[in-house]
Amino acid sequence: MTSTETFDAAPRSALRRTLLALRRWIDTGAGGTEVAAGDDRIDWTRALPFVGLHLACLGILWVGVSPIALGVAAALYALRMFAITAFYHRYFSHKTFKASRRVQFAFALLGASSVQRGPLWWAAHHRLHHRCADTEQDPHSPRHKGFLASHMGWFLTRDAFRTRLERVPDLAVYPELRWLDRFDTLVPVVLATVLFATGALLHRLVPGLGTTGPQMLVWGFFVSTVVLFHATVSINSLAHRFGSRRFPTRDDSRNNWLLALLTFGEGWHNNHHFFPGSARQGFRWWEVDLTYYGLRLLQAAGWVSDLKPVPAWVAGKAGR
Ligand SMILES: [Zn+2]
Ligand SMILES: [Zn+2]
Repeated sequence: MTSTETFDAAPRSALRRTLLALRRWIDTGAGGTEVAAGDDRIDWTRALPFVGLHLACLGILWVGVSPIALGVAAALYALRMFAITAFYHRYFSHKTFKASRRVQFAFALLGASSVQRGPLWWAAHHRLHHRCADTEQDPHSPRHKGFLASHMGWFLTRDAFRTRLERVPDLAVYPELRWLDRFDTLVPVVLATVLFATGALLHRLVPGLGTTGPQMLVWGFFVSTVVLFHATVSINSLAHRFGSRRFPTRDDSRNNWLLALLTFGEGWHNNHHFFPGSARQGFRWWEVDLTYYGLRLLQAAGWVSDLKPVPAWVAGKAGR
């Protein structure tokens, strides 16, 4: 569907649209409100960096591999998965615990390094997903948009690139979060640069490690980021298709133990759709929820507080 609904200053010519898409690679606020609301055609110019991110993984054919590069890739997967699931999702989108402004920003930075856009963009779309899960208005329902679109086509559209600040007024009051959202490629570029420099330095100082700048860049940034990305969005696609349904929610959400392991607890997605207000998504003791355990540790360290529990009536329905 392509709506004709556009803002007054919507870009009219193809050349202008292309130039604007290029500027928005760096500054998502470029062009002000020049957006095409309701236009769900893929914006290929804007999406080129996303395609490039995947193609860059082919670099493994040339750069070789070393234990240190693999270790850094795995560590960055785990750290950034935690930042996405604990903060982008359970904190910014659902407010299931409290954190100071400093902690909030630190994990927003870490989350932003995942190349999943800024926290405001992420939370705004996710809140819409919960409000109308698996209806026509859901931005990524496999029921209505097909599997591929629900996995990774939906956010490449002209409409979905914008951040709907009206859905996240509680987060938009923080200028540092709005800044992070506006310049959302900055943090990933810094991370990629640091990884390249670290690899080059290790190659010089500790050649026995067998790593190089390009190798650290390809494994630590590109491969780690792409795997992290597909694991995250599998909750939108696979966790609405495959798994068991404990709760008869109006949507198609499922509990899937394999996805829960890969995504540190997000795979208990039917639990989550039934009751999104708790910091914990594995409702039974055997439903492994690494993000929740991590949050308990952060709470013990005094970094976060007031983790919202699973209420007794929900736990009762879940059978514990
Ligand atoms: Zn869902
Ligand atoms: Zn959610």
